[in-house]
Amino acid sequence: MQTREIKILFKEFESVAELPAQDKQLIEAARSAALNAYAPYSKFQVGAAVLLENGELITGNNQENADFTDGLCAERVALFYAQAKFPSVPVKAIAVTANNGKGILEEPAQPCGSCRQVLVETEVRFNQPIRIILDGKQHIHVLDEAESLLPLAFKPKALNS
Ligand SMILES: [Zn+2]
Repeated sequence: MQTREIKILFKEFESVAELPAQDKQLIEAARSAALNAYAPYSKFQVGAAVLLENGELITGNNQENADFTDGLCAERVALFYAQAKFPSVPVKAIAVTANNGKGILEEPAQPCGSCRQVLVETEVRFNQPIRIILDGKQHIHVLDEAESLLPLAFKPKALNS
């Protein structure tokens, strides 16, 4: 038996002003998308902005439903729409933000497990890493790849092994 360790690296910024221009633009797009979320039940508005290799910027926000189980997260709304519209164009980056009714969260918004799984699948699909930008008032976290959010992820190759 061996004990193994997985490390992830991320960059922490103190404010949007410190970010590279492209990340800043993605956060701003995610923040405005969050304002259009359909979140009448949770009042928790999430926004996502996806940058594609061809320069297209696709945004999404959470869509809730009275039966709760039929809603969808902002990240997956944006990612699925991006891949539906541009099926052969790789995803380069995604920014995620959340607003709890009192403003943007103090600490970085964290994608749920299902969104992490979809992000990893998208990396596998296009065989390239996706830059992840997680917005918060006090800190912004930037990761170089989605797999850092989901170590030991289930991947398509498992289906054929
Ligand atoms: Zn999610």
